[in-house]
Amino acid sequence: MMKSGLRSQAEASPGAKAGLSIVVPCFNEAAGLPQFHAHLTEAVARLKEKRGLPVEVVYVDDGSRDNTLAVANGLPADALDVQVISLSRNFGKEAALMAGLENARLGAVLFMDADGQHPPELIDTLVGHWLDDGYDVVYTAKAHRENESPLMRAGVKTFYLLVNWRARHKIPEDAGDFRLLSPRAAAALRRMPERNRFFKGLASWIGFKQIRVDYEPAPRAHGKTSWNYSSLIGLSIEGLTSFSVAPLRLASLLGLMMAAAALIFGIIILYETLVYGQSVPGYPSLVIGLMVLGSVQLIMIGILGEYIGKILSEQKARPIYFVAEHTLKTADEDESAPTRHESASNVQILRG
Ligand code: UDP
Ligand code: MG
Repeated sequence: MMKSGLRSQAEASPGAKAGLSIVVPCFNEAAGLPQFHAHLTEAVARLKEKRGLPVEVVYVDDGSRDNTLAVANGLPADALDVQVISLSRNFGKEAALMAGLENARLGAVLFMDADGQHPPELIDTLVGHWLDDGYDVVYTAKAHRENESPLMRAGVKTFYLLVNWRARHKIPEDAGDFRLLSPRAAAALRRMPERNRFFKGLASWIGFKQIRVDYEPAPRAHGKTSWNYSSLIGLSIEGLTSFSVAPLRLASLLGLMMAAAALIFGIIILYETLVYGQSVPGYPSLVIGLMVLGSVQLIMIGILGEYIGKILSEQKARPIYFVAEHTLKTADEDESAPTRHESASNVQILRG
């Protein structure tokens, strides 16, 4: 039947139960994870009471060098099922998010960080926009960015200016990775096979009904951020080259402008030589001209190289991540039980 065929394409992967999977990428988060999990469990317990929604959390250990995996495996499955996926090495946050997305079992997917910066109290609001207002993508943005350095602000501004330059679909500025996807939006995101992933861009690109929620991120609960200027620049180049050909257009535009300038300059020189018989002095201008041309060409070759590298890695089509260990601990539904020791029966090793 035509109609159902069209419908099924947009809906959740077959077999996905209605419910919410919370995906949490973790890289060296052992120190804060128990506290995070306790907060999350509290928020989820309230949510379940209000809406009766099945909820699970998927911790993706992204090749941590501390004992994040052991800590995650020891977390109690009190109000929610706990999946722990351990990647074979550190693949980066984007890959960890994909691993969580692909293993989420409950339809809607919510992404949040493990460091306590994304408040679990907000989950209720995000779920409300999904279930009550019918939005497919509920994304959050920092309400204030005054605490960031001017250099950072300028960098972020330039990045979005370039990414969104003449783009048919603009990626919202300031949007973070803390976001909820409805089952059909999550299914759409799963169908995007690219190896070079820029999650914020992809999650916005899929379309559907999207809404922004402003919030105040808390300071990191422990440890320090794994981002620095150089990794942010890396992610920016990643995002730019996988979302826009603006840099290539810029190269053509720059080339045209320089050619036009050269033409005008040449005519002026020719005119001066022929009419006034002056030959142009100007060794310095020659050198500067050469240097400008040379550097512009090198930069543009570098940009071309970025795109060629991207084509190469897509062409190789390597998996985005490998799973080393995968366990599932299902919630004990018997709330009245005074002690809930983890019996071997509610812990499954899914892949190892
Ligand atoms: N993270 C990850 N793999 C990495 C780096 C970070 O899974 O290679 C996780 C990290 O554990 C945290 C989230 O991504 O849950 C955000 O990282 P971080 O707090 O360092 O970034 P920031 O909040 O400063 O953007
Ligand atoms: Mg953080």
